[in-house]
Amino acid sequence: MESKCVVCHERPAQFRCIQCHKPVCDECAFKNENGVFCGRSCAAAYRDFKAAASGGRRSSGGLLGKLVVLIIVAFVVILAANYFGLVAIPGLPTR
Ligand SMILES: [Zn+2]
Ligand SMILES: [Zn+2]
Repeated sequence: MESKCVVCHERPAQFRCIQCHKPVCDECAFKNENGVFCGRSCAAAYRDFKAAASGGRRSSGGLLGKLVVLIIVAFVVILAANYFGLVAIPGLPTR
């Protein structure tokens, strides 16, 4: 089944916009380093989406995140040791 270009409605579609998945022909397709789009707006939307995804990944899991995980692990280990009577911590009830 051959679908027609959603931009010009004349030529058969050769590409599919990777943002909205609409079929576009070679003449109407907007191409850049990310892929083929049906237009400039979809290319911009896809670029924003990619920037947001990579930016979100960069901000999380920094030094603070590692420190928090380390503190939680240390706290759990100390609590477990206290529970099993390996380490007696004043103030914490032992079994
Ligand atoms: Zn077209
Ligand atoms: Zn599109």
